[in-house]
Amino acid sequence: MKEHSLPRLLMDVDGPIANFQKLYLDSLLEATGIKKTEKEWDEWDTMKCLGLTVEQDKAAYAIVSLPHRAFNMSVHPGAQKGVLKISTITDLYFVTSPLDTSPTWQYDRNQWLRHLFGELGRKVAHTADKHICSGEYLVDDKPSNLEKWSAEYPNSTPILWDMPHNESTTEFTRVSSYDELYKLIADENLKRYNQG
Ligand SMILES: [Mg+2]
Repeated sequence: MKEHSLPRLLMDVDGPIANFQKLYLDSLLEATGIKKTEKEWDEWDTMKCLGLTVEQDKAAYAIVSLPHRAFNMSVHPGAQKGVLKISTITDLYFVTSPLDTSPTWQYDRNQWLRHLFGELGRKVAHTADKHICSGEYLVDDKPSNLEKWSAEYPNSTPILWDMPHNESTTEFTRVSSYDELYKLIADENLKRYNQG
């Protein structure tokens, strides 16, 4: 951390903030009539854990990819307030994977982030390769993102956002609420300040 500057925190969007699962499951229902729940989504491999065919998954993604869908996504309870609070003690950037099947995903996501977070919503990077972004913290629900990122920045802190699909991962510090995340960062900041 540079002297007198806030530590940079890279914040995943789908999972900790946006309820991608709901968008996908609503789209699956709309496209195929198949009804599944978020609890059933207990592995990263969607088709495997929900027992779907490639055609059913494609049909769901065709709906997910429609214009405005990413702008109308549900926000996880507490995420708006929680992210804004954490941005007061970090240099927070949103780092989010684009959806290649949608021509409007990135535009819609930018608008959605601006709508929720105002000026903070302008600090966004669209990439699936999160390890190209440096920072003191990466908060993400996908264990492989944290693995690649921590290999690149071994002195930084990867934080796993708790979700049913990552339950079996024991490797990272895990948080399941914004209060917990805020406390963790505040404590770490204090340690870094005392060391530096
Ligand atoms: Mg995610």
